[in-house]
Amino acid sequence: MRMTQGKINELLSETGCEHNHKKDQKKNKSCTQVAQPGAAQGGCAFDGAMIALVPIADVAHLVHGPIACAGNSWGSRGSLSSGETLYKMGFTTDITENDVIFGGEKRLYKAIAEVQQRYQPAAVFVYSTCVTALIGDDLDAVCQKAAEKFGVPVVPVNSPGFVGSKNLGNRIGGESLLDYVVGTGEPEYTTPYDINLIGEYNIAGEMWGVLPLFEKLGIRVLAKITGDARYKEITYAHRAKLNVMICSKALINMGRKMEERYGIPYIEESFYGIADMNRCLRNIAAKIGDANLQERVELLIADETAKLDEALAPYRARLKGKRVVLYTGGVKSWSIISAAKDLGMEVMATSTKKSTEEDKSKIKELLGKDGIMLEKGNAQELLRVIAQTKADMLIAGGRNQYTALKARIPFLDINQERHHPYAGYVGMIEMAREIDEALHSPVWQQVRQPAPWETQRLEVL
Ligand code: SF4
Repeated sequence: MRMTQGKINELLSETGCEHNHKKDQKKNKSCTQVAQPGAAQGGCAFDGAMIALVPIADVAHLVHGPIACAGNSWGSRGSLSSGETLYKMGFTTDITENDVIFGGEKRLYKAIAEVQQRYQPAAVFVYSTCVTALIGDDLDAVCQKAAEKFGVPVVPVNSPGFVGSKNLGNRIGGESLLDYVVGTGEPEYTTPYDINLIGEYNIAGEMWGVLPLFEKLGIRVLAKITGDARYKEITYAHRAKLNVMICSKALINMGRKMEERYGIPYIEESFYGIADMNRCLRNIAAKIGDANLQERVELLIADETAKLDEALAPYRARLKGKRVVLYTGGVKSWSIISAAKDLGMEVMATSTKKSTEEDKSKIKELLGKDGIMLEKGNAQELLRVIAQTKADMLIAGGRNQYTALKARIPFLDINQERHHPYAGYVGMIEMAREIDEALHSPVWQQVRQPAPWETQRLEVL
């Protein structure tokens, strides 16, 4: 798949994404804007493609570029695997000045050969980067030649960082799966209850808290795209009866195109919070259209929520009325509000920077009229909102932890670098425990005391 300007425009104006196509409005211009210098600061397209594809655990992910492209992002995401660990190895062609002058295709071919001979991966995914795209290396041709020679799938991922943002990179990753992987294999058998999970990356192993629920209900997860996935399962993802999009905006192009190509409908769901988990199970059962399954879902929900109420009771007593400022993006901007409310906490403000119109209307409903929606976010603005709302805690991505420390309030990491699983019913208990431990840690009494030099100064005065 060559990454032409037409292809990039198509991905940027993806019709399945509400960001691009607000109802009754024109296209959102910011989606189709050419990347500006510095735009890759929050992760470039290459980074985005890696995020979407690296969780496929038995694949060798080979980065064709300077060593820093692979090194900067290596190991920073917490996608876990239940067996294979090859995805954790950092492979790069580490191109040199010589390759920039004479071309890096031979080096890439040799690297694929070496990876294949030493590790026998289920497939090799080859990622282009800014430099190798600029010097004009023909990734597709090298991958095709290597695949024919070594008899192993070699998938080109044309994702040079300069084409755009991390989100665009996610979609480029999805395109590679659609063009080279999905539809190339067949499952041993199919059932009417086969679904795919798309955009779930098994961060901190959180999918393992949800899969047992599907198992109990008799729903088979045919392909996980891509958390804890194996190459083979994605080859036959086209045989599923339903696509369940979890982080829907990241791989929405996969959902839409699989509907077009294979007639598989898709729904957008979340695993965070009791209400969302319940809704997700109900929607899957309704979409599969089996009355028995719907009955089983209701029984399971009744059973799980009763157990959960008991487990959460001590936490609810300690967390009731605590005020939270939430700063995250996409689905989490509303689904975590719902989870915090399940624990009796008050969400005072949340970010809407990366939210769609649909996300925003859900946020409005959940926050009520006094809730603050942060369109722009920076440390200064967050500190102002924390002070204004007298927040007890900040729940945000890892890089905001210093803002929380400045405000002398506890912090919980909610983004992809986190180490605790928060999805599903068991995830709610984990989240409650983490919030409780952060909020009631004795360190905050110490942190909030005036510094010694401040008190000494007062005495002198
Ligand atoms: S692909 Fe380009 S923008 Fe991304 S890390 Fe490499 S050089 Fe930087």
